[in-house]
Amino acid sequence: MKKTLPFSKSKIQEIIKTHPTPFHIYEEKGIRQNMRTFLKAFEWADFKEYFAVKATPNPYLMKILKEEGCGMDCSSAAELALCEKVGITGEDIMFSSNETPAYEYQAAARLGAVINLDDITHIPYLEKHCGIPEVISIRYNPGPERTGNAIIGNPVESKYGFTKPQVFEGLKLLRDKGAKRFGVHCFVISNELNRQSYVETARMLFALAKEIRDTLGIQLEFINLSGGIGVAYRPEDEPVDLLALGAEIKAAYEELVIPNGLHPLGIRSECGRMVTGPYGFLITEAIHEKHIYKEYIGVDACMANLMRPGLYGAYHHITVLGKEDAKSDQTYDVVGSLCENNDKFAIDRRLPKIEPGDLLAIHDAGAHGHAMGFNYNGKLRSAELLLKEDGQVQQIRRAETLDDLFATLDFSKL
Ligand SMILES: *Cc1c(COP(=O)(O)O)cnc(C)c1O
Repeated sequence: MKKTLPFSKSKIQEIIKTHPTPFHIYEEKGIRQNMRTFLKAFEWADFKEYFAVKATPNPYLMKILKEEGCGMDCSSAAELALCEKVGITGEDIMFSSNETPAYEYQAAARLGAVINLDDITHIPYLEKHCGIPEVISIRYNPGPERTGNAIIGNPVESKYGFTKPQVFEGLKLLRDKGAKRFGVHCFVISNELNRQSYVETARMLFALAKEIRDTLGIQLEFINLSGGIGVAYRPEDEPVDLLALGAEIKAAYEELVIPNGLHPLGIRSECGRMVTGPYGFLITEAIHEKHIYKEYIGVDACMANLMRPGLYGAYHHITVLGKEDAKSDQTYDVVGSLCENNDKFAIDRRLPKIEPGDLLAIHDAGAHGHAMGFNYNGKLRSAELLLKEDGQVQQIRRAETLDDLFATLDFSKL
C-alpha cells in the first residue's frame, strides 16, 4: 500500500519552531479509527483488547486507548505503575510476564490484574508471594504442534509458556488451590501479515478449551490470542484486513465453540505493534551529506531513537518532506551519529535527492520506536508529540536533557 503521511511539510516546519528535531509524532485519529475497526471486527464476541504497553509506554496514548475501550497488557512493574497513573486497574489489566520477580507479581496482585502465568513452577511461587487469585490465566507453548513465524521463531526453541501436559496439570493445581475462573493464552506469531496464522491460533485454543472441559471439567472463561498482528512496513505490504480476520475467527467459533457447548467463551487479545506502529513517525533533519565509497545522508536522529533497523535490519519507509512526488533517483545510506556502523535507518535506499536541511519522516515508528530508546554514546531520548484530531500538537513527553542522563551520578564525591 502506498505510504502516506498524516501531515504536510508546512505543518512540520511550524512544529519545529517550538519542538526541535528529532522527535516522534503520533496521529491520534489513526490510532482511534484503527482501534474502532479492530473492536468492530469482534463485536459478535465477548471480546477485549489489552494494549501491549511495551510497544509505546506513553500514558497519553494509553489514555486514548482506554477511552476506546481497551485494557492494558503489562509485563513489568513500571508498566503496571503507568496503568495506575492512567486509572486502569483490576481486570482491565492483563499481566503477561515471564521470569517474573516476586515484587512484580505483588504489584500486579495489588492492582487486581489478571495474572497470566508463564510457567508451572510459578504456581507455588505466586502462592507463596501473593496467594492464588480467583481469576488466573496460563500461557500455552504448543511446541512441536505449531510452527511460529520468522520473528518469534519455532515454539520448541521459545522460552515461553507451559507444555501441553503442563497446561492440564497446572489448571488442575490452580483449581485445587482455589482459583475459580480460568483463561489460556498463546503467543506464537509476531509481526505477521497473514491472517491465517492468527486464525490458526484461535482454532487451536478453541480445540484446547474443549479438551480442557472434557478432561478436567473446567469451562474456560476466555482464551487469549495475544499479539502478533503485523504492520505493513513496506510499500508492497498489505495491512491485515481486521474485519475479515474477525469474520474468520467468528466462523471458527461457530464451528468449534458453540456446537461443543463452550459458549460463552471470551476472546482476549494483546496487540501492541499494530495498534500504534503505523501511527507514529520519527521526524529528523538531514544535516550532512557524505560522498565516499557510498553516498550517505547523516541525520540528527540515530539508532537510540529507533533501534529496529540497526537491531534486525528492519525496513522503515522514509519520506523526504516536500519531495513526496519527486523521482527517487538517488541511492543512499541514511545514517545516525552513533559510533556503531549499524546505526543506519536505511541501506541502499532509493530516494529523491536530499539536501542538508531537508526534513525526513521515518514511517511506522509508533511501536518499539521511542520505547526501545537507549542512551549509548550519551545520546538523549527525543520528545514525543501528539497530533490531535483537531490538528493541534501536544507534547506528551519532553526530550531528555543532560541532567536526566546524569541524574544517577553523584559528582560531589569525585
Ligand atoms: C510483545 C507482546 C505482546 C504484543 O505483541 P505485538 O506483536 O506488539 O502485537 C503481547 N503479549 C505479550 C506477552 C508480549 O510479550
